[in-house]
Amino acid sequence: MASHGLTSSPVRIVPLGGLGEIGLNLTVVECAGRAMVIDAGVMFPEERALGSGVLAPDLAYLEQSHLEILGVILTHAHEDHVGALPYLLRRFNVPVYGTEVTLAFARRRLDEDGPVGARMATIEPRRRFELGPFGIEPIRVTHSMPDSVALAVTTPAGLIVHSGDFKIDPTPIDGELFDRERFAELGAAGVALLMSDSTNVERAGRSGAESSIKPVLREIVARSRGKFFLSVFSSHLHRIRQLTEVSREMGRRVVPLGRRMAESVRLGLELGQLPFAPGTFVGPAEAEFLESCKLTFLASGSQGEPLSALARIAADAHPRARVEPGDTVVLSSRFIPGNERTINTLVNQLCKRGAEVFYEAVAPVHVSGHASRDELAELIALVKPKYFVPIHGEYRHLRRHAALAAACGVPEGNCFLLEDGEPLTLSAGPAVHRARAVETGRILLEDGEFGDPGLLSERRTLGRDGTVFAVIAVSSKTGAIVAGPELVSRGLLIGDGTSAHIRRARAQLAERLGRVGGPFSAEGTMLRGEIVHTLRNYFSHALGKRPLIVPHIMEV
Ligand SMILES: [Zn+2]
Repeated sequence: MASHGLTSSPVRIVPLGGLGEIGLNLTVVECAGRAMVIDAGVMFPEERALGSGVLAPDLAYLEQSHLEILGVILTHAHEDHVGALPYLLRRFNVPVYGTEVTLAFARRRLDEDGPVGARMATIEPRRRFELGPFGIEPIRVTHSMPDSVALAVTTPAGLIVHSGDFKIDPTPIDGELFDRERFAELGAAGVALLMSDSTNVERAGRSGAESSIKPVLREIVARSRGKFFLSVFSSHLHRIRQLTEVSREMGRRVVPLGRRMAESVRLGLELGQLPFAPGTFVGPAEAEFLESCKLTFLASGSQGEPLSALARIAADAHPRARVEPGDTVVLSSRFIPGNERTINTLVNQLCKRGAEVFYEAVAPVHVSGHASRDELAELIALVKPKYFVPIHGEYRHLRRHAALAAACGVPEGNCFLLEDGEPLTLSAGPAVHRARAVETGRILLEDGEFGDPGLLSERRTLGRDGTVFAVIAVSSKTGAIVAGPELVSRGLLIGDGTSAHIRRARAQLAERLGRVGGPFSAEGTMLRGEIVHTLRNYFSHALGKRPLIVPHIMEV
């Protein structure tokens, strides 16, 4: 059924997130008016001032492009690849494809934030399926999430390989090896484009096996006399499995703390990723009857997230678990840049409570789930792509990875450094890269609601320059100003300057409104516009600041 027209159709790759930042991964592959989406991820804002929400890619381009979206294909279940699924599916009712574990986690995500009744189809490594003009084959990779895959996408413009997140773990916990053979076969058959994970391109060598963690954990658990706490991402079932094995050896029961952790353990048991007998895990209530030295706790919050189990334990505000002298805490994850200060505070608090605390800087309690340089070079050598696009990274990572590909034999002119919104077109002729061609942005997701792009800049403005409220009353009969303007500022000024600047700004506004003359109304935009314009001007000239101006107009 591969129609003749398609064989000459160009294929356009449009990254909407993940190229220029770590997180927020979403790539669109288009051909002849139809498109598939690879991953739909979120990212945690580095600026705490932006609130407790997460960021997702703005989908304005998909809405305006009139593409027929055939489906979303998920490479694995990390939040930076599936977290924006509720947002995407509420806008586009399209089927979701993923491996068994990926869909189990995606379903949980949709249970939290909807929509209900999403169509889902399970995919398997080496089992190709068709989606419009695309033939998609998942390929097994190893990563810090079970059941992760890369995608080989057959298109009218050639074969595209998307690595997903990967490393090449020689001894994976679940025994599912990185499928070198299949990548090599594809490489021999001819790959047009490789898009590959750049997260760890700055690290030399190889990332190391996940299984190297187990002896380290065994040694630390064996030495601890009191309770043992492991803080880890709740989805890291491989690590949870290793700690559970160690705990069982030492006669400790494992207690998942918090809803998400308990839910992950439940999914792990259900999916066979945590192959343990019932009774290996116990609830926090049951744990109260057991001796300290018989207990291992799993706590989320290794990034210092304020509402997490670990943050509550550190503040001695957890209803079910306490850290006391003699206890041991292991933070088994990387300190993500931007979170260091919060995590340091947490570690200090735990130390003050008398715990012995281990983290990456003092013990090898973490290995990365992403490929280091030698592994990245190995994938390039296996796949031998004609073109190369580094993905999943900040600009500096992408650049380094493009240089690595060139050093591995991809012609330098064929390594494209795309950023979000910059399409690459593959066709019979040479590939073409266009800068800044497609609208991209970020929106805020919070408490299951989706903000608009304006909300982010509003929060930034509030954090940096504060706000000024202008209160005015107008007569509903004559449209004349009968009271005000009164100005109140928050977070903008300190000391006596406040009253002087506010007085002057108020006088300017009153004078301006006097000249305009009215009649004014609460609904009309004129009065609002005058207030915002005049006050913005004043504070910009007088203080070099742009506070958020909030007019409050009453009709009396
Ligand atoms: Zn991942």
